[in-house]
Amino acid sequence: MINIDILTCLPELLESPLNHSIIKNAKEKKLVKIEIHDLKDYSNNKHKKVDDYAFGGGGGMVLKIEPIYRCIEHIKKKKEIDQIIYMSPDGEKLNQKKANKLSLYKNIIIICGHYNGIDERIRENIVTSEISIGDYVLTGGELPAAILIDSVVRVIPGVLSNESTALNDSFQDDLLGYPNYTRPAEFKEWKVPKILLSGNKKEIENWRIKKSIENTKNKRPDLLK
Ligand code: SAM
Repeated sequence: MINIDILTCLPELLESPLNHSIIKNAKEKKLVKIEIHDLKDYSNNKHKKVDDYAFGGGGGMVLKIEPIYRCIEHIKKKKEIDQIIYMSPDGEKLNQKKANKLSLYKNIIIICGHYNGIDERIRENIVTSEISIGDYVLTGGELPAAILIDSVVRVIPGVLSNESTALNDSFQDDLLGYPNYTRPAEFKEWKVPKILLSGNKKEIENWRIKKSIENTKNKRPDLLK
């Protein structure tokens, strides 16, 4: 069981991505517990304000230090935290290896920034790693956090009904995935490769490996060392 605590000023943005499909199943199987903390609940301000102007001017708001700090202290009272992650465009790029590694932890906290980001002192003194989902800037850290959590949860053993499915996905073993087909075996003049209908498991496995390698050579030759 992995516990994931998310800090956000906009919990609504996380509702749908974390309550359907594989993540929903994983929560029901008690393989993951996800708690969303609304930073407004940790604000001492009478208007529940969690942001303020940036020192030095320049426009744009910054998420304040106190609500984030208080929320983390509150979580830390209940569990030993392995990683405090800040979603950030200038963080280390998310990849499959990172997702696999994070899936081995027991308790992680994810901080979602918003506006211009969070007070830098949280990054300097509390955050243990920073993760980016790509070289582009989104409005908030909620969608990046949902992407991170999805990538982590699907590789937790027992989450997918057939464990080998995640292992066959693209980027496991530095290979892209193989092509998949389903019924009907023939649509217009487009046919499913005969081998997949043969029932010969060994030959199908070899075909899939061959296709994975071909796919990687064509689309991501950089992955083949
Ligand atoms: N001022 C920041 C900068 O230049 O890097 C961008 C802030 S962005 C508008 C607001 C928040 O969205 C960030 O604090 C971060 O949590 C999240 N965010 C945006 N793009 C992201 C990305 N590519 N990966 C991870 N988080 C991202």
